[in-house]
Amino acid sequence: MIIIMLGAPGTGKGTAAKVLTKGLNIPAVSSGDIFRKAIADGTELGKEVEGYISNGKLVPDELTIKVIEARLKEPDLANGVILDGFPRTTEQAERLDKFLSQEGKKIDLVVNLETPVEELIERVVNRRKCPNCKADFNMKLNPPKTGEICDFCGTPLERRADDNEETMRARLDTYEKQTAPIVDFYQKQGNLLTAEVSKRCGRMAPELAESIIEDFRKKGLV
Ligand code: ADP
Ligand code: ZN
Repeated sequence: MIIIMLGAPGTGKGTAAKVLTKGLNIPAVSSGDIFRKAIADGTELGKEVEGYISNGKLVPDELTIKVIEARLKEPDLANGVILDGFPRTTEQAERLDKFLSQEGKKIDLVVNLETPVEELIERVVNRRKCPNCKADFNMKLNPPKTGEICDFCGTPLERRADDNEETMRARLDTYEKQTAPIVDFYQKQGNLLTAEVSKRCGRMAPELAESIIEDFRKKGLV
């Protein structure tokens, strides 16, 4: 099973991917996480991508495709993957199709998350992560019990370097210009599910992910 998570930064792609991973027993791969780990580890890749990420720009297609294709060839993904953050340009989407058809595979579902922009900004500037147990918090929506300390392991929480308002606005702009066009690309392929996840509609990304799992179960796909 191959599922792609689409959506502007802050919609909850990563959170939904985690729920899907658990419910469907398929690993999730986040291009952003791969790049952030490379930066934290100080690798060549990390040095190459850091500038783009801190400016809210996309890492160039060739480099991104190389990194993701190498990851997709690893044996733990033989039975499927939930792709979070890739593809993000038409070029990446086309190259992914080509790669998958060479492997005799195809995309089962593209989930496109939509959220009002102001809500995205509020969510992103308030989000924090535990560097130790990886738990996610939000200082407004889901704050830890004490200060900025992880409820589960007591570690001080961290904020992503690009989760400030200025970089977030650049990321949203990049999304509109370079990523939103691939919604149409997948719409034409007929495997797109677009859903609003927001306060006003009362449904957030994890609930949507649960309903997708339920749907797969009903259809006998999992
Ligand atoms: P978000 O969706 O919240 O912006 P990600 O973790 O998916 O967060 O991505 C963080 C950054 O990593 C992006 O702003 C971009 O610079 C880079 N990045 C991630 N995935 C891709 C990709 N598929 N193509 C190019 N750049 C990417
Ligand atoms: Zn923790």
